[in-house]
Amino acid sequence: MKVKFYSPQREYHEKKEEFNSAISKVIESGNFILGDEVSNLEESIKKYTGAKYAIGVASGTDALVIASDILGFKDGKEVITSPFTFLASASCLSKHNAKPVFVDVDEESFSLDANKIEEKITDKTVGILPIHLFSQMCNMDKIMSIAKFHNLRVLEDAAEAFGMRWKGTGSLYKHSGTVGDMGVFSFFPTKTLGAYGDAGMIVTNDDELGKLAKMFRVHGASKKYHYDYIGYNSRLDTIQAAVLSIKLKYIDNAIEKRAAVAKWYEERLSDCEYVRFPKIKGEQKGVYYVFNILAEKRDELAAYLKENEIGNSIYYPIPLHLQKCFSYLGYKEGDFPIAEKLSKEVIALPIYPEITEDEVDFVCNTIKKFYKR
Ligand SMILES: *Cc1c(COP(=O)(O)O)cnc(C)c1O
Repeated sequence: MKVKFYSPQREYHEKKEEFNSAISKVIESGNFILGDEVSNLEESIKKYTGAKYAIGVASGTDALVIASDILGFKDGKEVITSPFTFLASASCLSKHNAKPVFVDVDEESFSLDANKIEEKITDKTVGILPIHLFSQMCNMDKIMSIAKFHNLRVLEDAAEAFGMRWKGTGSLYKHSGTVGDMGVFSFFPTKTLGAYGDAGMIVTNDDELGKLAKMFRVHGASKKYHYDYIGYNSRLDTIQAAVLSIKLKYIDNAIEKRAAVAKWYEERLSDCEYVRFPKIKGEQKGVYYVFNILAEKRDELAAYLKENEIGNSIYYPIPLHLQKCFSYLGYKEGDFPIAEKLSKEVIALPIYPEITEDEVDFVCNTIKKFYKR
């Protein structure tokens, strides 16, 4: 049996007519840049997340770069974030000559450890950039109270966090990205809500920040050919918006299926003493964008799974403080021991709404076979 790490074709084949007709409608209309499909998607995302403003941009990375610019994460200012994340969570700061200041992650949730933030605050600190990674949100209660006390702005990297909710499903919940000053989503194809190409979004509840984000994606223009700021050319593509609107209709079901798949894995692997699972912490509703385990002999396991045609991925093999591009920050090995340890043990297994129980069985049996050799 061959199990792909990610398989968008299955969903496409299930709803082929719907996707094809939405895409050809855009082409027939000829309205490719910020067409109706983009504003429709923005309205739907506002409704789904409860955000007051939703601004579609070209990618999650662009969303981070633009939001950092707007929030003043630049010009030698310091922003506290995690080293155990995708590059874009910190490169968005360096791009504007702000300084990423790393703090280690929590061992059980892999998220930025909110208890370590305050010791890193200096008179140059202007913000906190929490990343809601893999399956859960950071401790947003703690982060928001630190931010309030020290007058810092919070940019949530919710690139992987579509559907995650702080405070669970009760009436007080807040969708990821809407707790801090600004939040960003990525619609990269593998993400929980994934396009057929690059796409991203900025959300905020703040009138001024929402207005700026809308201007910044069209070169800083307040109206056509009137430029108030030096902005960007970064718009969510109309065809991608059409695809995303269809996927958004089915997102709750897709999220439920991911949770069911995660449960299959946990049931089957719970008696395997060589693997451990991250723990969803705090009062929140997680979403399994990725299903990670911590595995003994991780690299050998990854090679064995590959030999057996099972897709897998390692997020992330090198923490950011040890990346060449951040060597100028002066960090060294041993600075963030938890992130470093996780990067040597973590491995992501195939998870998507369309994966079958037989396929999960095969993955789990293959993992157990590996440890019995
Ligand atoms: C995917 C991702 C991004 C970047 O999103 P793109 O749409 O690929 O540019 C940023 N941060 C995190 C944590 C991500 O997982």
